[in-house]
Amino acid sequence: MILDIYNKLFSSKYIRKGKCKKCGACCRNILFSTEEGYVKSEELFKQMQKKYKYYRNFKISGVIKDKQDFQNGALTFECKHITKDNKCRIYYLRPLFCRKYPDAIQELIYQGVTMLDECGYYFDVDKKFKSYLEK
Ligand code: SF4
Ligand code: SF4
Repeated sequence: MILDIYNKLFSSKYIRKGKCKKCGACCRNILFSTEEGYVKSEELFKQMQKKYKYYRNFKISGVIKDKQDFQNGALTFECKHITKDNKCRIYYLRPLFCRKYPDAIQELIYQGVTMLDECGYYFDVDKKFKSYLEK
């Protein structure tokens, strides 16, 4: 318990840096997962769309190759609300996750999730390892 509090207060954390380039890549490269992991088959996604209306807002945009093992083969999805010039058609009504992006994935960084290469944001540790060695 005390160790947890100590770690929360004094260990390094990832903080968001950079800024949005308005490239729209985050709306075109969305990953979905189930209890079994990332969605990797069209068949499974169709089942999800049948069961939950929410998924009908997305279409398959590609597949991840040559990434970390756990993401390899995962399908990427494009939101139907993104315009050709990278604007959100439902900006004022967009879901909470979109409002919180990219901060929403901050916790996932610890699980090995990385930002999109195109993204102008990145996460960096606020306290470098070297600083722990200095007095
Ligand atoms: S709702 Fe808007 S912000 Fe969210 S993924 Fe779709 S286009 Fe992007
Ligand atoms: S991928 Fe990053 S830079 Fe591009 S629109 Fe999304 S948040 Fe902005």
